[in-house]
Amino acid sequence: MKVVLGIVLTFLVLMAADGYTEQRHDMVERQILSRGITDSRTISAMITVPRHQFVPEDLRSQAYADYPLPIGYGQTISQPYIVALMTSSLQLKGDETVLEVGTGSGYQAAVLAEIVHHVYTIEIIPELAQRAETVLSELGYRNVSVRNADGYFGWEENGPYDAVIITAAVDHIPPPLVSQLKEGGRLILPLGNPLYYQALTLVEKRNGEMFTSHISDVRFVPLTGFAQEGEVEGGREPVEGKAEEAAENQGTPTEEKQNTYPMSPLIVVLVLLAGAVILFWIFNRRSLQE
Ligand code: SAM
Repeated sequence: MKVVLGIVLTFLVLMAADGYTEQRHDMVERQILSRGITDSRTISAMITVPRHQFVPEDLRSQAYADYPLPIGYGQTISQPYIVALMTSSLQLKGDETVLEVGTGSGYQAAVLAEIVHHVYTIEIIPELAQRAETVLSELGYRNVSVRNADGYFGWEENGPYDAVIITAAVDHIPPPLVSQLKEGGRLILPLGNPLYYQALTLVEKRNGEMFTSHISDVRFVPLTGFAQEGEVEGGREPVEGKAEEAAENQGTPTEEKQNTYPMSPLIVVLVLLAGAVILFWIFNRRSLQE
């Protein structure tokens, strides 16, 4: 009887593991490889990290879907492709120390931890920091340190870092994070208006100078704390005068999306022109028939 029970239990455990393993492989194939990500370390990390453990239980069936998911407190776990894109852009080799600003669920930190020597990650919402720390430790990630603080100021004691990743939108590169980045290091962030779309930007520090390149268009939740207080209290110019809206949108989960701009003026003009040509053609035909 015990043997039969053992076999049934093992079978059930394997079935459960297989379910997610298959979904993970599927996710990597359909969402990551097919979109051109080739970095083997990133791919292997995305296949390994059990993303379902980082999402709320009632959303586990969607854990490997091609979109971000809410994790509570108005925040999101990023879309798998964005996690892969940001990770691969850092061109990590394995011996690095990385700083992440915006721990959220802890998933991005786990993906990084699969690749590098140590990850320091900062989360401004205490409950999220606590939850991420628990999940990461339960999954056995000993090379991740979580801190509850405003990540705008970085984590100076453990710097300088080989790479810095900011996973919330901000309209400028926080100077403390630039100074905590090593010479030759890389920093990636969604740079731009935190209320609309941002440019996923890669910053490289060479000879003390910062060189930026545009990776993709994205939409992230805003970096809060000092980055926003400056705007609201008038310490810095609000982006397009939207300080009030920034405060209102605090609790709204925002999805990260690829290239989903509203219709550009050029497209509107083209559509109107096409409409005019079609109307002209119809009237012309009618008058010919008459
Ligand atoms: N990397 C996360 C993951 O894998 O789940 C997703 C990050 S979520 C898009 C952005 C996170 O940044 C939120 O959890 C938010 O609370 C956090 N955040 C916003 N402003 C912050 C700040 N100033 N310092 C640290 N964390 C911040």
